[in-house]
Amino acid sequence: MATPSSLPMLMAPPLFKGKDYREVLIREMDAGKIPLSLGKACPVQCEFCYEIDHSYRETLDPPKTSDEDWKFILDYISKKPTDPMQFWCLGGNEYMEWTDLFLHPKAMEWVEDFLTYTDKNILFFTVGYVHVPKIHQLAAQFPGRINFELSVITLGRYRQRLMPHAPSVKHLLKVLDGPAVSSANFYAFDRDTMADDAKMISEINPRCVLWMGCLTPIKGIKPDTMALMRQGRRALSYEARRIYDMNLPNMTTIHTEAYITAFLSRRRIISVFDALELEKKDTVVVAGSVHRILSMFRKGRAKFLFVPNATLGGDSDCTVLLTFNDIAARLTGQKVLHVPKCIMQSGRGSYTDIAGVSLEQFARRTGVRVKVLHKVDTRLANTQLHRNGFLRNYVEDYLGNPLTQEYEALPLPA
Ligand code: SF4
Repeated sequence: MATPSSLPMLMAPPLFKGKDYREVLIREMDAGKIPLSLGKACPVQCEFCYEIDHSYRETLDPPKTSDEDWKFILDYISKKPTDPMQFWCLGGNEYMEWTDLFLHPKAMEWVEDFLTYTDKNILFFTVGYVHVPKIHQLAAQFPGRINFELSVITLGRYRQRLMPHAPSVKHLLKVLDGPAVSSANFYAFDRDTMADDAKMISEINPRCVLWMGCLTPIKGIKPDTMALMRQGRRALSYEARRIYDMNLPNMTTIHTEAYITAFLSRRRIISVFDALELEKKDTVVVAGSVHRILSMFRKGRAKFLFVPNATLGGDSDCTVLLTFNDIAARLTGQKVLHVPKCIMQSGRGSYTDIAGVSLEQFARRTGVRVKVLHKVDTRLANTQLHRNGFLRNYVEDYLGNPLTQEYEALPLPA
């Protein structure tokens, strides 16, 4: 049986070595993406960007999208059947690094092409590089077909420090003032940050969804930016209560830390766990947040193997984003492991983690027999996130819940 020290790192097999970049584009399109490219690195260089440490996954570097590439993309997507519930995503690529694609000089024109020459819907996000009034005109001309998520991040005193190259606040307010923006995301960095932004955005746009929360530090983010993110986390409850009291007309959602989401989803986590019918001797892989819930409400019902998100590092705490390397590093002689399916449902392929390592590779290298917990899948995780993701849930069921002090004090194993 392998022990952590004797285990070599599990490496994902290279996918595109010696292949044409259009094969990358096809992979992205088969996964519902509109794969525009700016080249490898994003010129905006936001301090909080999660793409800074991309070393855990193989990303390719297709050249800046040309007119010929765009024709190829539009043609390929046009031939796909239309699902009225599907939104084709401009950005969010799996095999190419994330960049703000609206910095491509043709982006606005190609969005219009997409809406005109296909009958499909489009989803995009940007820190605000859209042309006003063109974007409002497109939203009015193609109602219901655009889901525009505006990454506001912050409008106040930390903006310059976090995103010195992003569009100005003045420009963002113009983007918000009209029908284009479906949701605006922004975060707490201190007291009087997120709540002030919520008030200002709601005054201009009382319809868009306010998607708020705090940012989680991961590996690769600079220490002072990490400190600012953590400062935001400490201010989150204060900011959330202020917004709750404002009773804004907008739908208000909040993306809190994983352990809070897990607490808000505790009933579902417990009922799914019970339905698994595990025995006391069984070992089940869990990230920190789920470990807390099961230790509090189902202590001793199985062995909970706490696996930290070492690949992503920082303060990340998420079962979906665990890797097989993370699990391998925590093995202490187990012969059989129960592993949630959501770990192996990444964009890299089925039974494959976010780094591209497969279940089969893990089992072969470690000698561990894996029993996949099929009920614990990404659909379950996403449903819980959306169902309990309202600011009201956080304020009423978390901040106002007498159980949370005991919950927060629960220690995680070393
Ligand atoms: S604009 Fe987006 S992709 Fe570019 S650096 Fe900022 S967060 Fe990262």
